[in-house]
Amino acid sequence: MYRPDDIGTENFVRCGFRDCYKCCLETEMILTKEDVARIEKNTTFNREDFLLPTEQTDGFMQLKNVESPIGRKCFFLSDKGKCTIYESAPGGCKLYPLILNLETDEVMIDIDCRERAWFNDQTYMHEQVVSVRILVNSLLIENDEMEEL
Ligand code: SF4
Ligand code: SF4
Repeated sequence: MYRPDDIGTENFVRCGFRDCYKCCLETEMILTKEDVARIEKNTTFNREDFLLPTEQTDGFMQLKNVESPIGRKCFFLSDKGKCTIYESAPGGCKLYPLILNLETDEVMIDIDCRERAWFNDQTYMHEQVVSVRILVNSLLIENDEMEEL
């Protein structure tokens, strides 16, 4: 989710539902190496703090969830439902709820998004659709490279 009043975000998807943080609960967001490096650079946290051990994630770098009064939430979600690393958030978070269905190779709205009906009615720019494909390709390539090590 990216907020509607942000500028210069044509490769991201804007979510204006400010009361919603559903996609940051029980997150399964996968990060690229670039995402991880950016978060480490811009926060006081190391990857061991905010990522699950890769043995639990088939080698992918996946955000950790923690218990909280609002439920099992992303390590970076505040108890008030705000992303605390908004500017540095992973590319997948900024493109969500656009995802790539690996079975159909279709870029689509995630059925888990609370407002999927609204998002399904929107028109998406070519850049946004391409960004989803590039991101997923990067994640798969990086995962293959990790397995070869
Ligand atoms: S990094 Fe931010 S936007 Fe992404 S799942 Fe965590 S809290 Fe939500
Ligand atoms: S679940 Fe959907 S509506 Fe809710 S914050 Fe995420 S993208 Fe926005």
